[in-house]
Amino acid sequence: MLKDVCNCEFTNSFKIEADFAADPIWCNICGWNLDIDEFPLTDNLKDELYQWAKQYKKIPINEHNVIGKNLTEKVKEELKSDYRIVFIPDK
Ligand SMILES: [Zn+2]
Repeated sequence: MLKDVCNCEFTNSFKIEADFAADPIWCNICGWNLDIDEFPLTDNLKDELYQWAKQYKKIPINEHNVIGKNLTEKVKEELKSDYRIVFIPDK
C-alpha cells in the first residue's frame, strides 16, 4: 500500500503503460503518473523499465507489448502480492 503518491489517499493498484516523457508506472485508480522510485524495485528492473519507456513508438508495437508484458511479470515478482499490477498494451 502506498500513501500520498497520487490523488488517492492510499493505492495498491497500478498499471504499467509507456508514454512519452513519463515513468511507465501509473495509479490504476486516479491515473496519476508515479515516480518509479516510490516502488521497492531493484535498480536493474527500474533501468529496464526506463529503457523500455524510452523506446516507446521507436520499436514495433508487437515488440513493445511483448517486452512490456515481460517487465510487468518481473514487477509483480519483485513487489510480491502487496500490489495489484496490470499491463496496458499499446495499440
Ligand atoms: Zn491514485
